[in-house]
Amino acid sequence: MKKLLLILIIFSVGLLYAQEPYKRTIKLMGSRFDITVVAKDPVEGDVYIDMAINEITRNEKLISSWDTNSQTSEINRNAGLRPVKVDAELFDLIQRAIGISKLTDGAFDVSYASMDKIWKFDGSMTVMPSADSIKASVSKVGFQNIVLDKESSTVFLKLKGMKIGFGAIGKGYAADRAKELLKSKGVVAGIINASGDMNTWGKQPDGKEWKVAITNPMDKNKVFALLPITNGAVVTSGNYEKYVTFNDIRYTHIIDPRSGYPATGIISVTVFAPKAELADALATSVFVMGIEVGLNRINQLPKIECIIIDDRGNIITSKNIEIEKS
Ligand code: ADP
Ligand code: MG
Repeated sequence: MKKLLLILIIFSVGLLYAQEPYKRTIKLMGSRFDITVVAKDPVEGDVYIDMAINEITRNEKLISSWDTNSQTSEINRNAGLRPVKVDAELFDLIQRAIGISKLTDGAFDVSYASMDKIWKFDGSMTVMPSADSIKASVSKVGFQNIVLDKESSTVFLKLKGMKIGFGAIGKGYAADRAKELLKSKGVVAGIINASGDMNTWGKQPDGKEWKVAITNPMDKNKVFALLPITNGAVVTSGNYEKYVTFNDIRYTHIIDPRSGYPATGIISVTVFAPKAELADALATSVFVMGIEVGLNRINQLPKIECIIIDDRGNIITSKNIEIEKS
C-alpha cells in the first residue's frame, strides 16, 4: 500500500512538472519567426512566447533603418554632419559589426547600405553594368569611416550619404536577445527561428537534442541534412532565387562591398556558431569571400563550422563537419 502511494505521488509530481514544447509562428522584422519554448502548460508557454515577441519588437525599433524613429535612422540622417548618441546596446552591436568587418577583411560591412542599387535580380537586367559604375556604386561604403566614441556613446558616419543597415545580422541578433531573455526567466529549453537564422538552448522534453532541418538549395522541398543542435546557433544564407547570369556566370544578390561585384560560385552557406548574430554575419561573409578564403577563415575560428554548397551542387564542409552523402 505504502509503495503504491509512493508511486502515485511520484507520478503526480511528474505530471505537475511535465514539460511540453509550445510553438507560435509570427511575422516580425518583416520575416517569419517560429518561436518554440518548453513550458509546463499552454498558459505558461504563451507568457514566454509573448516575452520573446516583445523583445524582438524592441530590438527592431532600435536597429531598423526603415523606421524613421529608430536610433539607426538618426545615425544615417546625420551622416557627414555630426555624431549621434545611442543606447549602449546599439553602440555595442555596431562595434561588434566592425569587428566582423576586420575579421573578414571587409567582406562584411554594415555600411553596405549606402551602395547604389545598380544590380537588379528581378530579371530586368540585360547588360552588365560598366566597370566605372560598379566602382562608383560602393564609394560611400567603408566601415573605416564609422567613428565610435565609447565615452560619449556616439556613432558618426564620416561621409555624407553613408548609411548603415543590419540586414545581414539583425535577425540573428534578435534571436540571440530573445534566447537570453527567456533563459534569464528560467525557460529551460527552446528555439528562436528567424526564417532560418536560429538559436537553440536546452533539449527537447524527452531528452533528445533539438534537430534543425537544412534545406537543399537545389530543391527547396528537400531537406539535405537534419542536424542535432544543442545550445547553439545555425544560420543559412541561401541564394537560389535572386541572381542574374552574364556569360555563364551567376551573380548573386549578396554584393562584395569592396568591389561592387556580386558574389559568385556559391548558392548556399550554413554557419554554426555559439551565437546567431555571428553565424548570420559569417554566412553572408563566406558568400563574399568565396569558397577557398571563406573556408580558410572559418577553419581558423574556434567553435565555428560551415557547410557550403557551390553552384554545381557540390557540398563543401569545414574541418569538423562530416556529412553522409546519400
Ligand atoms: P537573408 O537575410 O536573406 O537570409 P543574409 O543574412 O545573407 O540573407 O543577408 C543578406 C542581406 O544582408 C542583404 O539583403 C543586405 O541587406 C545585407 N548585405 C548584403 N551584402 C552585405 C555585406 N557584404 N555586408 C553586410 N551586409 C550585407
Ligand atoms: Mg547573414
